[in-house]
Amino acid sequence: MIRNIWAVGRNYADHAKELGNAVPSKDTTPPLIFLKAGSCATFSAKEMCLPEGTHELHHEIELALQFDHNLEIKKACMAIDLTDRAKQNTLKAAGHPWTLAKSFKDACPLSEFFPVKDLNELQNLTLRLSVNDQLRQNASTQDMIFSIPTLIEYVLQHFPVVPGDLLLTGTPAGVGPLHRGDKVSAEIVGKVQHSWLVI
Ligand code: ZN
Repeated sequence: MIRNIWAVGRNYADHAKELGNAVPSKDTTPPLIFLKAGSCATFSAKEMCLPEGTHELHHEIELALQFDHNLEIKKACMAIDLTDRAKQNTLKAAGHPWTLAKSFKDACPLSEFFPVKDLNELQNLTLRLSVNDQLRQNASTQDMIFSIPTLIEYVLQHFPVVPGDLLLTGTPAGVGPLHRGDKVSAEIVGKVQHSWLVI
């Protein structure tokens, strides 16, 4: 059971640019953190649900870290931060929180978890996501603006993190829309892979 999903926006420069956002500078701005409800998580499901009335559901592949009972990171997985981009753009323009666009039923499909011995082993992993065998996202966690230790420290310092919570570390460029019948295949190379059918 996951209570909270702490997520980072704009942690890869190329992705910030593709959505027309300013690229954060880690020297002058803190990380942009938003929440997805813990109940958005689905574990190793075979299907991804396109919510009724959504016109632009985007995939965002992310490395997700899990806090253990000491609030240390000993496990990680791959998360798809499903986002209703049309709603998010409307909310952003109005200066409103993104909750409606980020925190709906089944909005956070997860892969299986893999063990983490040392945070350093997470800082050079390749994230890859294909839709119908066409590669859309392909990047290294090396390209994060805020490093994994920085994100963990920031979240622990500012928020009531509890054991089992996830930290989503941001998505690289290549996000795009999903449609019913699409096959989504994603992997963190050498760690986990998972496929979903969009229904
Ligand atoms: Zn995201």
